Amino acid sequence: MRYSEVVEVCERIERATKRIEMTDLLVYLFKKTPAESIDRVIYLIQGKLYPDFVGIELGIAEKLAIRAISHAYGISHDEVADAFKKMGDLGEVVRKFAHSRRQKALFTNPLTVERVYEVLDRIARTSGAGSQDAKIKMLSGLLTDSTPDEAKYIVRTVTGKMRLGIADMTILDALTLAYTADKENRKYVERAYNLCSDLGEIAKTLASEGIEGVKKYRIRVGRPVRMMLAQRMSNAGEILRKLGGNAACEWKYDGERIQIHKKGDDVVLFSRRLENITSQYPDVCDMVRAHVRCDDAIIEGECVAVHPESGELLPFQELMHRRRKHGIEEAVKKFPASIFMFDALYIDGNDLIEKPYMIRRKCLEDIVEESEQIRVTEMIISDDVDEIERFFHRAIEAGCEGLILKATEGIYQAGARGWLWIKLKRSYQAKMIEPIDVVVVGAFHGRGRRSGTYGALLVAVYDRENDVFTTISKVGSGFKDEDLEILPEMLAPYRISHMHPRVKSEMQADVWFSPSVVMEIIGDELTLSPIHTTAFGKIRENAGIAVRFPRFTGRWRHDKSPEDATTVDEIVEMYKSQLKTIA
Ligand code: AMP
Repeated sequence: MRYSEVVEVCERIERATKRIEMTDLLVYLFKKTPAESIDRVIYLIQGKLYPDFVGIELGIAEKLAIRAISHAYGISHDEVADAFKKMGDLGEVVRKFAHSRRQKALFTNPLTVERVYEVLDRIARTSGAGSQDAKIKMLSGLLTDSTPDEAKYIVRTVTGKMRLGIADMTILDALTLAYTADKENRKYVERAYNLCSDLGEIAKTLASEGIEGVKKYRIRVGRPVRMMLAQRMSNAGEILRKLGGNAACEWKYDGERIQIHKKGDDVVLFSRRLENITSQYPDVCDMVRAHVRCDDAIIEGECVAVHPESGELLPFQELMHRRRKHGIEEAVKKFPASIFMFDALYIDGNDLIEKPYMIRRKCLEDIVEESEQIRVTEMIISDDVDEIERFFHRAIEAGCEGLILKATEGIYQAGARGWLWIKLKRSYQAKMIEPIDVVVVGAFHGRGRRSGTYGALLVAVYDRENDVFTTISKVGSGFKDEDLEILPEMLAPYRISHMHPRVKSEMQADVWFSPSVVMEIIGDELTLSPIHTTAFGKIRENAGIAVRFPRFTGRWRHDKSPEDATTVDEIVEMYKSQLKTIA
């Protein structure tokens, strides 16, 4: 398949203004892609070579890409670097230079998806001494054979900055339509995706075996399962009613969710975004080898930093010291971790996903031999609001965020934020003391002391029903000088020329971003607003919900994907319970 066919669709997606246009364009692309290349096309349009859990990243530094561009077109390094400074998008820079070299590209063989993929794969796998020069050579070779538009996407792909914001859910929609022509099949495709987390593999199965192949999917050790998430409510009584009268009430630890895959002594850890984070937690791997009594397992828990002297639970932030390539050993010593296990999805040949929670928990307790560092979560089964509230206060005192109440009979709903797990965090009261996670979708230029950086960010929550992001606030407070300084550079990779098709905003930002970066904010309360689009018309006609006096809490949530941000439903729930407490 010609690479130009993929690039042409990417160009059109970049200009799209509605999500539905993105889906239609993807259907068109998938239909004309031959079965043997469909997985590669899917990875490439998302700027990847493999699903995230494989852990092979292109991630070529911009500096290196600049050298390759200068090499490919015989232009001085400074000229390329200057153009990059002015234009801010290396993809557009290379297109400009490639344009002036157009003649040459016309004489070469057209690039194929297979060749582009193969060269990029070699670039990603080259390491060690001399690897930089080798990478530059391979990349510039590819660029010399590219048309200007192809060069643009090759550079964007290698630098990991596609700027298209094609979400997994949009791809699932398009795959269903392209291969089965029946929207009803979407649920099977999504189920398979929830169990294997690999869009390329699913596309291949659809292309070769059709929907029946996809229906056969089962959970496998080594393949991360998309994690089950929780809804949120603010009142224990209401949660109990929702869960049918009683619940398994557990402490909600403030750490990092980890899905552990064990095959004998091989232990692999996945983050909530399904990245392979095994190397960040050598201590957790050792604990699992020593204290989990079974051959094969997929189990989940929350990893929490503990104070080395006092043994107290520390906030999530302390674990972020482990997000690095070198110096993990020191971080492990300085910030030791404990893991609190809460679920079992698979043990020694038994798929537990569809089993009731109490059975999964029992299976978990049977294989975890508890020690200081590895335990199962604190839990009570209760139907009594007073008892649950007392348990809640104990959790808060111990440094937890609150409780998660779980349906005792509930299955493991992979990939869903359903009503079988419900968070009970500190009550919202009249004041909004509960922070929310929002996605940066735009920015406003700063003035005075903030000139040269952004003065405020336009942030949004996730509308799960429509798979879009609706604005909830313009945040300018709570940023430290260090935060402000890094803002433009940190957000540059996501900058786009117009409002992203998956963003709904009435406010005109100076700069737009594809929804990627998640941050935590807090405000005084939620109010009705004519300008923000969150829950627009749901509470009152012609009004949405906004955060009053919003402030950044200082927490970037790089562990969350934009679809993990607070949802519109949660905001509506918070708004309603706020009214109740005021009344
Ligand atoms: P949130 O991040 O606010 O959506 O809350 C859900 C997260 O709480 C999960 O993804 C886990 O990382 C974390 N968590 C902490 N304790 C528990 C628990 N006992 N059961 C399930 N999840 C927990």
